[in-house]
Amino acid sequence: MGEILVFLEQREGQLKQSSFEAMGAGRRLAEKVGSTSGGLNAILIGNNIKNLAETVSRYGAQKVLLADHPSLQKYNNRLYTHILAREAQKRETIAVLFSATAMGRDMAPRLAARLGGPLLTECISLNIADGFLEATRLVYAGRLVATVKSTVSKFQVATLRPNIFTPAQPVSRGVLQYAPAEVEILDVSTVPTEPFTVLKDIIYTTGVGARCNVPLPDIAEARVVVAGGRGMGGAEYFKILEELADLLGGVVGASRAAVDAGWKPQDLQVGLTGKTIAPELYIACGISGSAQHLAGIITARHIVAINKDPEAPIFSVADLGLVGDLFEIVPELIKRLRTAGNRK
Ligand SMILES: Cc1cc2nc3c(=O)[nH]c(=O)nc-3n(C[C@H](O)[C@H](O)[C@H](O)COP(=O)(O)OP(=O)(O)OC[C@H]3O[C@@H](n4cnc5c(N)ncnc54)[C@H](O)[C@@H]3O)c2cc1C
Repeated sequence: MGEILVFLEQREGQLKQSSFEAMGAGRRLAEKVGSTSGGLNAILIGNNIKNLAETVSRYGAQKVLLADHPSLQKYNNRLYTHILAREAQKRETIAVLFSATAMGRDMAPRLAARLGGPLLTECISLNIADGFLEATRLVYAGRLVATVKSTVSKFQVATLRPNIFTPAQPVSRGVLQYAPAEVEILDVSTVPTEPFTVLKDIIYTTGVGARCNVPLPDIAEARVVVAGGRGMGGAEYFKILEELADLLGGVVGASRAAVDAGWKPQDLQVGLTGKTIAPELYIACGISGSAQHLAGIITARHIVAINKDPEAPIFSVADLGLVGDLFEIVPELIKRLRTAGNRK
């Protein structure tokens, strides 16, 4: 019937957490398709990443396809898409899964266009029936959930919202069905030499205070997120949130209102058109809690809201609500955390 292929995203030799989620989704689809007629393959592209392929081989794929070459060190959509398209065609792949990260969102439409298949974006659940993907996605600013299915082509591409799907876990080597995957080294000698675009540099957002100049984790993978909204009143006032995040070992996020105002970059936006996050602790400061914002924090473990309006919708989802002025509450929290830290 065909195979499921999962693109595993790595940066600087580190696999993205969302790649394991895509693997988990791929594995469940492959089980539905039936292991005798198809299966799950994973593909890794980069430089000097053989060790990653070995790690991934324990996560339930039949094969890990490895394109490992110095020319693939930095992400390049032309080269990466070329390899993916070639492998997908060669293997009668029925579906390619990406995480809906910046890289996945860039590559998935290119691959779909190149191979003439439909693209299901930002899926929050995925199923397969009669060889066709069936996905659910949020529509109308997150107010409705639509089930979508395309039957125009047997080849399909999907992007999966991070922090929604259950990640794959390593499988026991003793389980016959899930023997460690074979790592297949791909031939990259025919990859186009002209990349069209060249990624010159990656500039990481860095921490403040004790973690000054340390690259911060992606907000989608952070353990603690302290986010600010319109109530912050300006870019310069985010400094107190950075201090708080720093003390808690977390990162700063923002509502769309704060991003639209130019106070924070879009990659820190939490919500429907931003990122879905799953931290242990989410602290929302001066954020009202619109449906679109809440769509990005449903997977947070504990939510603390600081807002001066006791009627703000954010309080309906908060585990702990602090009604008051954030410019009084946040400095007080920082003071107490510092005192507690000094006592240790
Ligand atoms: C298609 C679509 C997609 C969207 N996607 C997203 C998304 O991904 N993420 C997102 O966030 N939004 C998104 N939005 C926008 C969303 O509808 C809201 O407009 C936005 O979330 C509001 O941001 P906010 O809570 O920061 O601002 P507001 O709603 O203006 O809330 C500001 C809050 O700050 C409080 N406040 C003010 N001053 C203080 C103070 N000193 N101390 C304490 N509290 C204070 C106020 O009481 C208020 O509750 C989307 C909208 C659409 C239509």
